[in-house]
Amino acid sequence: MEKRIYLCLAHMSGREQDFIKEAFDTNWVVPLGPNVNGFEADLEAFVGQNKHVVALSSGTAAVHLALLACGVGPGDEVLVQNFTFCASSNPVTYLGATPVFVDSEAQSWNMDPVLLEEAIRDRIAKTGRKPKAIIPVYLYGMPARIDEIMAVAERYGIPVIEDAAEGFGSRFDGRVCGTFGQYGVLSFNGNKMITTSGGGALICPDVESKRRIMFYATQARESYPYYQHEVIGYNYRMSNICAGIGRGQMTVIDEHIAHHKHLCSLYGKLLAGVGGVALHENPSARYDSNYWLVTLTLDPALRVKGEERAYEAVVQGAVGGAAGVTHAASSAHTDSEPNRNVEAMRMALDAAGIESRPLWKPMHLQPVYRNSPAYVNGVSESLFRRGLCLPAGPCVTDEDAAYIVENIKSCIL
Ligand SMILES: *Cc1c(COP(=O)(O)O)cnc(C)c1O
Repeated sequence: MEKRIYLCLAHMSGREQDFIKEAFDTNWVVPLGPNVNGFEADLEAFVGQNKHVVALSSGTAAVHLALLACGVGPGDEVLVQNFTFCASSNPVTYLGATPVFVDSEAQSWNMDPVLLEEAIRDRIAKTGRKPKAIIPVYLYGMPARIDEIMAVAERYGIPVIEDAAEGFGSRFDGRVCGTFGQYGVLSFNGNKMITTSGGGALICPDVESKRRIMFYATQARESYPYYQHEVIGYNYRMSNICAGIGRGQMTVIDEHIAHHKHLCSLYGKLLAGVGGVALHENPSARYDSNYWLVTLTLDPALRVKGEERAYEAVVQGAVGGAAGVTHAASSAHTDSEPNRNVEAMRMALDAAGIESRPLWKPMHLQPVYRNSPAYVNGVSESLFRRGLCLPAGPCVTDEDAAYIVENIKSCIL
């Protein structure tokens, strides 16, 4: 097979090398400089709302510093969307705090505002203290019910950190996701909406918060002629080389988003009339997803070729993991996994040179979080059992989408 279609690949505009060359020519090969400032200015112009943006080494670092800025420390609790990638909740544990997971509603697949309020009241009743922050996520780019989440948060005076790592350029009621809460997290990892090879950013409410985040991101140096440290800092600033890639990427961000949206509507047309397969689309006109990944769910009753061989073999390597750094699995099964028809479709697409991926496994089912409180309603677990992500992004052509749907249809019995 000549070609492989990947889930979401970085796609360069051609301008990146100009910005990088300038960094070399002017000797700014460090974690600050003109590209960092330029990239931050581009991001501020894009997100609007008079926000201030700090470029960082990763989205995970952005979550970490936002939590720090919200005063999260040992013994605190933070409410985190249950249906997410581990980078939303891991930084809570870096600070010695405990994530408390809140499940999703079935329309957007993101944090359920009603369950959120129940969780807040129950945590206050059980611990006598309010959770320190709330982290809703824009999973696969889909906006959350952020208006209702903000209303709940404001009622209890709890700051919101929006994890927009997958939702860069998505909008709710016309406003860019990541600009509703106190802080907004962006990621520019290799597989995200745009890339800086690796990187992230934190959207901040004002200049003062931006300066505070920058201080913590650069080892918390006090202003003396020698190194003087009064608090613990981190080495989280973005390099001027990575920021050069980011400036190049910002010249094509609108085209990239338009292509992701185009692909989703194309998949929709091609899948029309295919029974048992449901595409995840904007629940109403208030939602404007960037469709970072196109996702669908399979009816458990749908029969797919090769189901009897699903989970027969232990998979080599991990999802999205670099070879050699993941643990070898001791069994082909865990106590919660996608339905056999989903795994059979993933294997059929894989054999046709198409990468697809199960939906993210909810945090309350992750062994590492078995001791974290979780407020669950069955939505994310049910989605995890039924869902699959399909390739999207600038590297996926209309012909690719047609080929992918052809293969989906042909593996259905
Ligand atoms: C990718 C991702 C992050 C973290 O971003 P990195 O830049 O990879 O550290 C955080 N949250 C979610 C939901 C993500 O998908």
